[in-house]
Order: sequence, then C-alpha cells, then structure tokens
Amino acid sequence: MNLVESPESFDLIIDGEYQAATSGKVTEVKSPATGELVGTVAVASEADIARTIDSADAAFREWSAKTAYEREKIIKKATAYTRTQADTIGRLMALEQGKPFNQSRSEVTASCDIIDYFAAEAVRIEGTINPTEKANLRSYVVYQPVGVCAFITPWNYPVALLSWKLGPALATGCTVITKPTSITPMCPTAFCKAMLDGGIPAGVISVLNGSGGSVGEALMKSPKIKKVAMTGSTATGKRLMEAYGPTLNKISLELGGHCPAIVCEDADVKLAAKMIAYKGFRNLGQSCSSINRVYVHESLADALTTELKELAENMTIGDGVTDGSVDIGPMATADGVTDVQAHVDDAVSKGATLVTGGKKPDAFKDSRGNYYSPTLLTNCTHDMLVMREETFGPVVPCQTFTDLDDAIAKANDTTYGLVAYAFTKDMATTIKVTEELEAGTVCVNNGAVNTPYAPYAGWKESGFGVELSRKSVFEYLNTKHIKIAF
Ligand code: NAP
Repeated sequence: MNLVESPESFDLIIDGEYQAATSGKVTEVKSPATGELVGTVAVASEADIARTIDSADAAFREWSAKTAYEREKIIKKATAYTRTQADTIGRLMALEQGKPFNQSRSEVTASCDIIDYFAAEAVRIEGTINPTEKANLRSYVVYQPVGVCAFITPWNYPVALLSWKLGPALATGCTVITKPTSITPMCPTAFCKAMLDGGIPAGVISVLNGSGGSVGEALMKSPKIKKVAMTGSTATGKRLMEAYGPTLNKISLELGGHCPAIVCEDADVKLAAKMIAYKGFRNLGQSCSSINRVYVHESLADALTTELKELAENMTIGDGVTDGSVDIGPMATADGVTDVQAHVDDAVSKGATLVTGGKKPDAFKDSRGNYYSPTLLTNCTHDMLVMREETFGPVVPCQTFTDLDDAIAKANDTTYGLVAYAFTKDMATTIKVTEELEAGTVCVNNGAVNTPYAPYAGWKESGFGVELSRKSVFEYLNTKHIKIAF
C-alpha cells in the first residue's frame, strides 16, 4: 500500500450527503509520517451548523418512531456495509493518525461490532410497572430517546471512540451530529458516510468538521441539542462544562487519565512486562488507558527493567501506511513529540535513569515524521512531570516500593481516576488492590480494559457519565413516569 498520490478531500455530511461548506473554507490534514498534505476537509459555517441541526431534528421524529427491532435491522445492515469499507477507512486513519494500517483497519471493524452490540441491547430496554397506593391507579416507568446528540471526538482512536457514542445513540432512536477533531477528521467522516450508504436514513448521522472552539461550541449551545458526548482532555472537558452546563442538558465526558500499574512482590514478571509494554507503547502511548507510571516491588525491579527494555527495543517502527504490519508508527502530532520530550528531559534532570529511548529512533533521524522511540525510565519520583501529568506518549516511568500500602497511596495520589492495573498471583492482594485503587476500571493481570459489556467511567477528573455497556444506553434516554387514574 502506498501513500496517497493526491490528497483526499471531504465535504460536510448534511442530510445524508456530502455538501460543500457555505463558507468555502477548508482545513488541511498533514501526514504525521511525512509532513505531507494528505487531505482537506470543509469547515462548517454557522449557517451549515444551523441547517444540520434542523435536518437532525427533523430526522429524529421518524427515526425515534421506529421500533427498536426495526432500528436494529437497519443498523446491522449499515455496519455490514461499513465493514466492506474497512480498508478505505483504515487507510485514511493510518494516513492522518499514524496508526499502522492493520491496527487502523481492526479499529474500524471493531467499531462496527460495538455498534452491533448496542443495536441488540436497545431491544432489551425494560421499563417498570410499579405497585400503587390506590386500586384505581397505575404507574409505569418508560424510557424515551433524548433527541439530537452532538459528539465531540478525539484523534487517538478516532473511529472507536465515535462508535462508543454512535452505538447507543442510534439504537435508542437519537439522531447524531458529530464533530471530529481537526487532527483526524477524514476517517470518522468516511465511517459516517459508509454507515449512511449502508442504509442509515438521511439526517440520522451528520458530520460537521471545524475547530472545537468554533464549530464544537456553536453546535453544543443550540437549544435543539439534547445531549453532548465528548472524549478528550480534562482541560477541554472543563471548558465544555462551562460553555454547555447552563443548558442543563445531558452531557457525558470521557477525559484524561494517568493510569498506575502496581507490580506486586509475587507477580509474574514476564506477564507484567508484556502488559506494561502493550499498554505503554501501543499507539505510542496515545491512549487514555495507557499505563503511565509503574510501581514495582524492589525485589522485581531489575527483572522487570530487563524484560521491558527488551520489549521496547524489539518493537518495529515505521510508516504504517507503507507497511501496515509495523508495531508502531509516528505520533499523531509534532506537539505531542515536544510534550513527551519535555517530560523525559524533566525526569532525567531530576534523577531518573533513561534505560532506553528518549529520542527519535536513529533510523528516522532525517525523517520529517513524528517518530519517537519507546522509552523506559527507572528511579522515578513523584516530583517528576511524567509521574504526575498525562504524558500521552510512549514513555513508561518506574518507581520501586517495599510496602504495598505505600504503592497504593502513590497510585491514588492523582486528580485522575480512569484505569489502574495490578499484577499479583495472590488472592488477598488481588482483593486489596481492586478495592483500594481509586479508578473506574481496575485490571489485574491483564490489560484488556474496554469491552462492550462493562461500563467505562472515569472517577475524579477523568470523566462524567458512562460509556460502553448497557449502562451507557441510559445516557441517551429520558426517564418518564406515567401515572394513570381510572
Ligand atoms: P482535546 O484537545 O481535548 O480535543 C478533544 C475534542 O474536543 C476535539 O474534537 C476538539 O476539537 C474538541 N474541542 C477542543 N476545544 C473545544 C471547545 N472549546 N469546545 C468544543 N470542543 C472542543 O483532546 P485530544 O487531544 O483530541 O485527545 C486526547 C485526550 O483525550 C487525552 O487527554 C486522553 O486521555 C483523552 N481521552 C480520553 C478517553 C476516555 O475514554 N476517557 C479516551 C481517549 C482519549 P479540535 O481538535 O478540532 O479543536
């Protein structure tokens, strides 16, 4: 597979069709691997935003009037078609995000699976019939779709994180306007178009590209938007609460993380190293659930360092468009590389040992791409940025401990609370860490954080609301109590 010879161009999606922006403005998308222009997307104007909201509002009446069974059939037909487009959409993701093609393609098909899961889940929404205080009363609780939803999505998993929102929204009868990040707008736009081409009715899914501060905020402030679902940084999440909070409509925010891993005295070191390397380096650590800091029992520190160094140095790195099978490509943005280097330099200046990485790989030193080597730091302490702030890069910093209570206290000493990991073979230790770690997800001896059947919810400043699982379906439903006297 070769790089594009001519850049792709995408219009907005309004009323089920690609439509040019009334402003005529476009924004450029650059390859993180080469710095070349790989595409342009139309930038929505206020007039485009207004007519898209009207179209989604009109479509809501028909889409919500269908039964959940009818919607399930339509959605599953659309995902079946979208799977046939996985090569095209995956290639766009590899081009604009840097994720190797094989992983990008898998993200597209896995996203179709998630949407199917929700299509089936929505036919199982149960209300209640309540006992009443008098014989001539009846009381029912039912759930109805909220209306038009606005989605604000990030660049690290640009299609997957859209599908987590699209799945429950479509299945419950909501219509959707999505605003992908300006960094990776092409693959989510193409994914939505494929869903429409596969049979989702016009107006049920729309796409407005443009910057968060202009298009995102204008979209969310409309009184016709009844729910906002956003994934992104905690700083942006706080801004959205300020801008959108006064509407008092529903909002869910999946925000940043700074996920700890505790490697206990009795852990399987090889397994722990494998999982830490997977969660720390895959997608260049650009994941909210990345392992951002490791607390290792001092008796295992040398063994873990040896294993992690080997895993880091054996990762294959390359342009994942030209070779889709490499382990890692470039980071998505040059700013991301600058931030990672600042965290690594800060740690080293405060006494950390740089075991491997810490720079652009030698093989890419003349490349314009945002390449960065998987990096391992030991002897880290909590005064280092890398131990306190989301690095969002391929860096695993390690600190030793002797007392498990101390390791748990350090793991919890953060404003984030998304995911925490522990490695142990002991049942009592397992119970202790799962009960004491302050995070929405705790994984013991594994790194498979996200599954359709379990809720993903950030504690503290990592989020507000729930994604995935049956619980997230209720983020898209209003509760109605019906009381009848007869
Ligand atoms: P970001 O900079 O916060 O942007 C996220 C989205 O918000 C983008 O679409 C952005 O649009 C938009 N946006 C920015 N300012 C806005 C505003 N004032 N009003 C409305 N929308 C606005 O985050 P990112 O860099 O793309 O993503 C990385 C972050 O996401 C990390 O912190 C990561 O931990 C977090 N994340 C969390 C989860 C989770 O499930 N908890 C999953 C993945 C990622 P533009 O880019 O076009 O401006």
